[in-house]
Amino acid sequence: MSIRVGPQCADAPHRWDEHMVARVVDAGLLQRHQEAFRDGICWSSDYSGYDAPFLALEIFHSSVKRILGEEFGPVLTHVACDFDPLPRSILASRAAIHGGCVLRDLNDRLPQSILDVVDAEESAARLRGRAAAAAFYRMLDAVLHDDGASLFLCAMKAPCVMHDQDCYVNALASWRASVEDFGAGQRPLVVNFSGITCVDWTGVGGQERFSGRSERPHAIWLRHREAAAAQGIEDVYFSECSTRYPVYQKQVHPLASTHHVLHVEVDPTALGHPVSRKSMFSAGISKATYVWVGAQDNNAVQEEFAALFHAPLELGGDAYLCAIEDEVRVYNAQHARQRKRPRLLSDAGNSYDTLVQSLGPGAMVRLETYRPTGAAFADVEQNELGYTSRAGNIIPSMLRHGTIVSFNKNRLVTQEELWTAQGVDVMPQAWGSRGASPLRDALVSLPSWKHKRLRGNSIHIPTAAAWIAYVLGNIRKLDLRLPESMTDPDPASEDS
Ligand SMILES: [Zn+2]
Repeated sequence: MSIRVGPQCADAPHRWDEHMVARVVDAGLLQRHQEAFRDGICWSSDYSGYDAPFLALEIFHSSVKRILGEEFGPVLTHVACDFDPLPRSILASRAAIHGGCVLRDLNDRLPQSILDVVDAEESAARLRGRAAAAAFYRMLDAVLHDDGASLFLCAMKAPCVMHDQDCYVNALASWRASVEDFGAGQRPLVVNFSGITCVDWTGVGGQERFSGRSERPHAIWLRHREAAAAQGIEDVYFSECSTRYPVYQKQVHPLASTHHVLHVEVDPTALGHPVSRKSMFSAGISKATYVWVGAQDNNAVQEEFAALFHAPLELGGDAYLCAIEDEVRVYNAQHARQRKRPRLLSDAGNSYDTLVQSLGPGAMVRLETYRPTGAAFADVEQNELGYTSRAGNIIPSMLRHGTIVSFNKNRLVTQEELWTAQGVDVMPQAWGSRGASPLRDALVSLPSWKHKRLRGNSIHIPTAAAWIAYVLGNIRKLDLRLPESMTDPDPASEDS
């Protein structure tokens, strides 16, 4: 029996991909991954920000490929979609180099005539109050369920910012249109990941829940999954949201006829990573194309996932403080300039005084409040009793307006270090055999507030990778063929 260990030495948190794959091998799941990935993967994502889940998939995929060799299937297509121009610009800079489509919005999946009606009725309902808004969103969901088969067609297209035209929304259609020839029986695994808008369910959001504006994109996303599964053109979806998201009401019951839905609540600290970000991850397995062979009851799913990946937390957040002295000096100087405190430019070393001077007035006060607590880290933009971001020995959950300080080092935690803690490889000191993230160049040149916003809306990549690895390691393919319509040379012919 192998011993499951968490990160043991200073560089261990950065070798998380090796730890993860070792566990997958120990658990005997590798053969299922080999089967699942054999014909390649078609990936799409909706409202996933800079698409951290895709980075998670890529890292897991190349870790397995190192063991299984070249015949391990490739990642074939990548169709990302986000309504927010900031993450979309990161997705676009990546697609410009690596290919793929970047779509503007989930709303673009509905015809304009329907959108006009939805816009008008949504506004009217919201004016009537929360109960009316919730009733409207329930009605919208019911309509999209009833009409999904005719709305969310395989050959559906939407405006793409990369190609300045309408491109395929469904990843399988995008792949099919890009290949001239494919082997008999060849059928990639088709996956969607959504970081469905969480704001109405989080502790820091407005708690609008079923009457919140995020209900509309959620309904479009959900009913698109339902229709894609019914047509046999999508196999697995994943989502990530706040632990307050009611997954039974929002996914398990609505998709009961098309998907087997499972979920876990997990914080990176449970997997041995000294950074906090508690989330709920779900997955839906299309009953038309795959069968779930893991634990059936959801409590057992949580236990099975824990048995596979949980690890003791043996290191504090200091494990991420990899910046060299010069990088810290440059970072301090940038903050001094922003605060218009030029004295720091000549004295930008690590002293408590320098740290205090590089903060805004409110953050200075909070710094003094946190200091006597003995915490190694605190987010000095959040109050001491803040629910989501606690001071302590690990990196607190990263929020969109956070400023995280290290009391041990008497300095700010740098942007690069925070990206590293989130699992994006921007520091050579920490990226190990994975190498630089494909997003590194696009990210490092951004101003500080954009870094914060992107991270605050995102997910912890090693945790997402563990969830993807668990789910894809517990599915079995049914008889998989391309739908007849897609054996045509161009799937567009289906509805033109
Ligand atoms: Zn495109």
